[in-house]
Amino acid sequence: MKKDVTLTVKGKFVNKYKSGYPLISKEAIINFNEVTEEGTIIRLVDEKNKFIAKGYFGKQNKGYGWVFSRNEKEQIDQSFFENKLRAAINYRESFFNNPDTNAFRIVNGEGDGLGGLTIEYFDGYYLINWYSKGIYRFREYIINALKGLVEFKAIYQKKRFDVSGKYIEDDDFVAGERGTFPIIVKENGEHFAVYLNEGAMVGIFLDQRDVRKRIRDSYANGKNVLNTFSYTGAFSVFAVLGGAAKTTSVDLANRSLGKTIEQFSLNGIDYDSQDIIVEDVFHYFKYAVKKQLKFEMVILDPPSFARSKKIVFSAEKDYKNLLKEAISITADNGIIVASTNSSSFNMKKFKSFIDQAFKETKRKYQLVEEFSLPKDFKTIKEYPEGSYLKVVFIKNLP
Ligand code: SAH
Repeated sequence: MKKDVTLTVKGKFVNKYKSGYPLISKEAIINFNEVTEEGTIIRLVDEKNKFIAKGYFGKQNKGYGWVFSRNEKEQIDQSFFENKLRAAINYRESFFNNPDTNAFRIVNGEGDGLGGLTIEYFDGYYLINWYSKGIYRFREYIINALKGLVEFKAIYQKKRFDVSGKYIEDDDFVAGERGTFPIIVKENGEHFAVYLNEGAMVGIFLDQRDVRKRIRDSYANGKNVLNTFSYTGAFSVFAVLGGAAKTTSVDLANRSLGKTIEQFSLNGIDYDSQDIIVEDVFHYFKYAVKKQLKFEMVILDPPSFARSKKIVFSAEKDYKNLLKEAISITADNGIIVASTNSSSFNMKKFKSFIDQAFKETKRKYQLVEEFSLPKDFKTIKEYPEGSYLKVVFIKNLP
C-alpha cells in the first residue's frame, strides 16, 4: 500500500477525535491538502504531533474518510479486517440463527468500525456496498476476510461511489455461483423478492424490519391503510398480512407497480383487491382531499431528498407540510406512521415538525411509540448522526 500521510487536527477538534468521533472532515484538519489519493492511510495527530487515531482517506457525501483505529501500533492489514468482520458477524449471531428472517445487515459502516462499508446478507448471498473509492482500495482484504469467515452462495458488490450511478457491471459479481434473481428472502415469516443486480435499491429496505412487524402485529387489523412513497409496497404487504381491510400504495416510479404486484403475489395476496397507484404523492393527497377519503392508517416514508417533475422534496424543509397533508386525510383516532431516514436532523427536531404540523392544522395528537434502527444496523454513541432512522407512530386525536 501507499505511504501513510500524517494530518494535523485543529485544536478545537482534538477532543472530539480523542473521544471516538469516526468521520474525518476537511474542516477539522490543518493540512488537508496533503492527502490526495483515495485509500491512503491517514494518521491523525494533534498540533504537538501526538498520535490520536488512524484511518483512511475516502471521499463520500458524508466526509473524507473514517477512523479505523485509535491504537498507533495496529496495522491496517488482512488480520485487521478479519477481526472487524468476525466481531461484526458474532454480533449478529441471533440473526443467523433466526428461522423466520434471513435478510439482515452484517456490517454497518462506522457502527462496526468500518466506515464507508456495509454488507448485507440475503439467504446465503452477501452484498457489499462500497461508499468510496478509498474503502474500495481495501477490497481484497475485505473480500478475503468475508470468504474466510462465512459460507456463501455468492458475493455481490455495489460501487456506490460511482458517480455515473452505474452501480452494476459484470464484474460486480464477486465470488461463488451467480444467482438467478429475484431471490426470495424471508422476514418475520413473510417473503420478499430481492434483486442484487438492479442498481442501488434491491427491493427491500432492511432497516424498517421492526416497523413492518409492528404494523402487522399491532396496528393493521381492520384498517384502511395508505402507504405513501411505497416503493415495492413492503409496508402494504405487512399491513395486509396483519388483517388490513385494504391498502393503497402510492409511488411515483413506474417500476413500483410491477414490484408491488410481485411482493403481494409472493405472499399469497390477491393484488387486485389492493390499490397500487403510480402517481406523485402530492397529487394523490389533493385527489384524496377532493374525494373526502379518510384512512385509519397513513404511512409516510419519503426519501430524504427527491426531485419529481414539479416538486423538489427535502425532508428537512418539507416534512412538516407532508404531515399536514397526511393529517387532512387521516380519520379521527387514526395512526400516522411518520418515518424519515434523513441524517440532517435528529429525533427532537423531527418531533418539532410533528408538533408544528398538528398545531397549524389545529388538531391534537398523541405520540404512541417510536422506532430507530434495528439491532443489526449497529451504531456508536460517538457518532449519533449514524442513527439516521426515526419513526414515530402518531395518533390523530378527534
Ligand atoms: N417506503 C418504502 C421505501 C421508500 S423509497 C419501503 O418501505 O420500502 C422512496 C420512494 O419514494 C421511491 O420508490 C421513489 O420512487 C418514491 N418517490 C419519491 N418522490 C416521490 C413523490 N413525489 N411521489 C411519490 N413517490 C415518490
